[in-house]
Amino acid sequence: MRPGIRDLSRQLDEFTLISRYFDRKHVSRSDVLTGIGDDGAVLSPRAGNDLVLTSDVLVSGIHFPVGTAASAVGHKALAVNLSDLAAMGAEPAWVSLNVTMPRPDEAWLEGFCEGFFALADEHAVQLVGGDTTRGPLTIGVHALGWVPRGGALRRSGARPGDGVYVTGTLGDAALGLMQVQRRLVLEGADATEARRRLDRPRPRVQEGVRLRRVASACIDVSDGLVADVGHVLEASGVGARIELESLPRSTLYRRLQDKGTIDWDPLLTHGDDYELLFTMPTGRRAELARSLTGPGMRCTCIGVIEPDPGLRLIDGDGGEYRPRRGGYDHFTVQGGE
Ligand code: ADP
Ligand code: MG
Repeated sequence: MRPGIRDLSRQLDEFTLISRYFDRKHVSRSDVLTGIGDDGAVLSPRAGNDLVLTSDVLVSGIHFPVGTAASAVGHKALAVNLSDLAAMGAEPAWVSLNVTMPRPDEAWLEGFCEGFFALADEHAVQLVGGDTTRGPLTIGVHALGWVPRGGALRRSGARPGDGVYVTGTLGDAALGLMQVQRRLVLEGADATEARRRLDRPRPRVQEGVRLRRVASACIDVSDGLVADVGHVLEASGVGARIELESLPRSTLYRRLQDKGTIDWDPLLTHGDDYELLFTMPTGRRAELARSLTGPGMRCTCIGVIEPDPGLRLIDGDGGEYRPRRGGYDHFTVQGGE
C-alpha cells in the first residue's frame, strides 16, 4: 500500500472493497498456490511450457468513452489482454488487476466485476492479485498464459508466398466509435450491435491456441488493419498485397458502404476489433480448415505476403487504395514506396 490509497477507507474500507469485489475464491485453479490476500501470488509453473506475459492499460476517455457501462469496462479490460495472449497462441491462466478510481463507487464496482469475471470464468482464468488506488479512472491488467515450449506465435514469422488471413469480421468497432463521436447515426439493432462490438470484443482465445500449429505469424487487430499488418511486415522483413473486396465485413458495414455512408477507412485505420490476423503457408490450408471448426470460428484469406517491402491495398478495379489517415507510418515499410 502507498500513501493516498487510505483515502478510500473513509467511504469503503480498502480491504473490505478488495475482499467484497475482487477476492473470488470460487474460481480456483489448481496451479494457484496462493491468490489474493497475501503480499504476492504464488503460482505453480507448468513443465515443458513457456510463460507468456502481456499487459494493457485502459484509461477512461481514451480507451473507452466516458460513461461506458461498468460491465463493458470490466469485460474489455480483460478481453484486450486475452486477445494479446491469443495472438501469441497462449492458453490464458492468470491475471492481475490494477484499478484506479476517483471514489469507491459500489454500483460501478459491481458492474465492472460482472463483466470482468464473466469473461474470466468463460476462459478459466483466475484473478490472483492486483492493486487498488484512488485517481482518474484507469484499469490495468496483466495476463499470463502458457504455450508448449518454443511454440509461441510471433509477428516475425511471415514469409513470401504465405497467405494473409483474418478471423471474424472487421470494422464494426469503428462504427461503434463513430456513433459515440456523433460522426455516424445508426438506429435500433444496428446502433446496439455497433456499440456492442466496440464495448464487448470477443477475444479469439480458442482460435489463437489452434493457430499455433499452422500460422507462421500472428497479431491481434487492435490498432487498425493497416497498422497491425504493418507490424507483421516490419517484424518479418516482407511486404503484402491485400485485396479490399476480400476483407470480411458484417452485413451492417457492407450496407453502409453500399449506401456511400462510409468507405474502407474506418475498417482499415480504426482498430479495436480484436480479431486475429495471421499468415500461413498455403500448403496448410486443409489443416487450417480442420483446426478452426469450433462454433463461431471463421477466417478469411485477404491477401498474400510478398518479398517487396510495403503494404499494397488493392481495390475492386485493381488500383492501389490509400487510406486518408492513420496507420500511414506503417503503410510504407522501411521506406519501400
Ligand atoms: P500490499 O499493501 O501488500 O500491496 P494490498 O493491500 O495492495 O497489499 O492488497 C492486498 C491483497 O489484495 C493482495 O493480495 C493484492 O494482490 C490484492 N488486490 C488488491 N487490489 C486488487 C485488485 N484490484 N484485484 C485483485 N486483487 C487485488
Ligand atoms: Mg498493493
